[in-house]
Amino acid sequence: MNKRVHIFANESESTKQTEIQLKKKLDKIGFEIVPNYCDDIDLLVCIGGDGTFLEAMHRYNFPSVPIIGINTGHLGFFQEIAPNMLDDFIFNYTHDNYTLQKLGTVVVKVKRGDEFFEHHGINEVLIKAPLAYSVHLNISIGGSFIERFSGDGVLIATPAGSTAHNYSLGGSIVDPRLEVLQVTPIAPMNTTAYRSFTSSILLPSDLSLQVTPDMTDSRKTICLVYDGFNVEYDDIDEIEIGFSDVSVNLMRFDNYDFWRKVKSKFL
Ligand code: NAP
Ligand code: MN
Repeated sequence: MNKRVHIFANESESTKQTEIQLKKKLDKIGFEIVPNYCDDIDLLVCIGGDGTFLEAMHRYNFPSVPIIGINTGHLGFFQEIAPNMLDDFIFNYTHDNYTLQKLGTVVVKVKRGDEFFEHHGINEVLIKAPLAYSVHLNISIGGSFIERFSGDGVLIATPAGSTAHNYSLGGSIVDPRLEVLQVTPIAPMNTTAYRSFTSSILLPSDLSLQVTPDMTDSRKTICLVYDGFNVEYDDIDEIEIGFSDVSVNLMRFDNYDFWRKVKSKFL
């Protein structure tokens, strides 16, 4: 069985050791290690933490190949195995003894004049002002105007991202088998000038959120953060956020259970 494997790894010492060991083991069973990522690989291995996994997904544009994460000393929510489980992983992989967990993404579409920009998040998209300014946003759901938001920002999380920044903001943990987006206000001001929900709301995957920045003030820049990557836009007409068809497939083994993983990381 000549499988083509690409390894994406961070710079840590334990990662380097794990990568050396893995390469030896894969070489022994005749797998080909592809040094430069290309679309016709059979398997993508990410060695590091969740941050490394997210970096790989953005660098390789959300590949459709099966992905296995090896956790080297981080929180490791996406990462399925520990470095001491390489033999189990190889056995299970070569015996087709795994399932693929499909993780959908949230997409943010920016319209500015006749220009369009698009960014995806596996965890989330955050809309905020640059620096420490507050942001003023008119928010509609499914085309109906809902609220005039003012505060630090609004975070829109996927179920997979519900355990990340979303959770730190008091958002709910969502089982990734549900296709919903969670919209969480960050430090909303509720005054006679602005009024918005104070808790998270959940939207079904076929409904989108439209956001028009309130440009009546002197600040016209909006900052979007997707999985920790920042971009800034001036003079935006509209932002639309929704569930995307773009998804990735994480390899999971027999003993994977989302809620057990949550418990092991948080409780
Ligand atoms: P980072 O600032 O180094 O990571 C923040 C922490 O979040 C790390 O411990 C990371 O795990 C963990 N993490 C990432 N995705 C997760 C998930 N789906 N479930 C549970 N924990 C998760 O940045 P990063 O490593 O590049 O990760 C980017 C993510 O950081 C963003 O998508 C955002 O969700 C999160 N973040 C959180 C806060 C906050 O909680 N206040 C603030 C900013 C950003 P590893 O240690 O395994 O990398
Ligand atoms: Mn990290």
